[in-house]
Amino acid sequence: MARESDGEAPALMRLHVVAFGCQMSVADGGEMAGPLLARGFIPVKDSKDADAIVLNTCTVRQHAEDKALSMIGRLRAWKEADPDRVLIVSGCAAERLGGWIRERFPYVDLVVGAKSIEDYPRIVETALAAKFEMLRETREAFAAGGGAPAAPIGWSSPVVAPVTVMRGCNYSCSYCIVPRVRGREAYRPYEAVMAEVRAKAAAGAREILLLGQTVNSWRVVAGDGRQRRFADLLRATAAVDGVARVRFESPHPRFLDDELIAAFAETPAACDHIHMPVQSGSDRVLSRMRRNYTAASFLERIERLRAARPSIEVGTDIIVGFPSETDEDFERTLELVGRLKPATAYTFKYSPREGTEAAERTEDVPAQVKEERLARLNELCDGLTEDAMKARLGRTVEVLDETGGYGRARDAFRVKWETPAEPGRLRKVRITGTMKRTLLGECE
Ligand code: SF4
Repeated sequence: MARESDGEAPALMRLHVVAFGCQMSVADGGEMAGPLLARGFIPVKDSKDADAIVLNTCTVRQHAEDKALSMIGRLRAWKEADPDRVLIVSGCAAERLGGWIRERFPYVDLVVGAKSIEDYPRIVETALAAKFEMLRETREAFAAGGGAPAAPIGWSSPVVAPVTVMRGCNYSCSYCIVPRVRGREAYRPYEAVMAEVRAKAAAGAREILLLGQTVNSWRVVAGDGRQRRFADLLRATAAVDGVARVRFESPHPRFLDDELIAAFAETPAACDHIHMPVQSGSDRVLSRMRRNYTAASFLERIERLRAARPSIEVGTDIIVGFPSETDEDFERTLELVGRLKPATAYTFKYSPREGTEAAERTEDVPAQVKEERLARLNELCDGLTEDAMKARLGRTVEVLDETGGYGRARDAFRVKWETPAEPGRLRKVRITGTMKRTLLGECE
């Protein structure tokens, strides 16, 4: 996607894309670049070198939202140094706080929310065509010296390619703002998804990451009149020439059904990893979260998956201190973690998101108690991760070289080795050590 700038023919208009928060936000940031790349912008790594910045925001957690807003604030100086520059703010926080962002940061050229992503190219052209022309003319007049090096957009490694298959969510988890900012589920057509997979594989992607808020709920009637479900999509993606691996994120437990489990078992290219948020081990809390499953039914699905694909590793997300969570509820969470044995867990203290049902609840858990519970949970989860990493010492694992001597094993563990380094190659690496969350090894 990136065009090389050779230093002699200077880049006229340079684009920097930054995305905060979840993987969908990162993938959307890449898509948001599309209309500007079509206008002749080339991507650059550093915002300082840019004539235009697309800043894709996320609102799932306060922290990601705060970071994005703080960066918009810092970009005032960049923008004021050259009023021709273009600043576009997009994504979920832009959807939730659009009016406020326009008022608070009047130098932003365009604020476009996540619900408008399908219409985004038209919105950008309508709002900014005249500005782009002006920018092109001034950059042409003043072009001199070398352009900044071209950079990939939206993803850290060109050999791992995200493909968004659905957007939105039909659930109403009581703590989550996503359904409000992203709207109801919309599935991309089978043909469009497959065309993107084929194009990305032809361009050098070896691993495809199928993305969606509840990615495995994807189902459509394809052009041939046949119903396709997520299990079909997984198989079809794995069968594309050049695709060595398929991952997906984020699955919903409800759609980890027999069909998908069978597809996992029959598709060697499906990675040995699933990241499925459980959030709590207490049925009472799960019901208040409106998660639509119990701890036992969640575990039962994972056990069936493990029986079908014993090499699979599980990752999960857990929230502690949800309103009204008792010591007893928290003990249930520890119990569940002990049985689930996730190789990786992202743990969070509950913090209310304005506009959600849970934010109205008054039975807040004291901050000190949340801290203590998080510390106990982290100790347990860190121990499980360490055990899983130690169990790999001496083993040989298949790693996809993503950035030259660094990549991920099929079970999603990060692996680093010295030589040889060749992005895009699958390597056999013997694990010889560990460093924090990374396995260290030697190529065989
Ligand atoms: S399933 Fe629940 S947590 Fe996930 S996006 Fe939908 S509402 Fe949010």
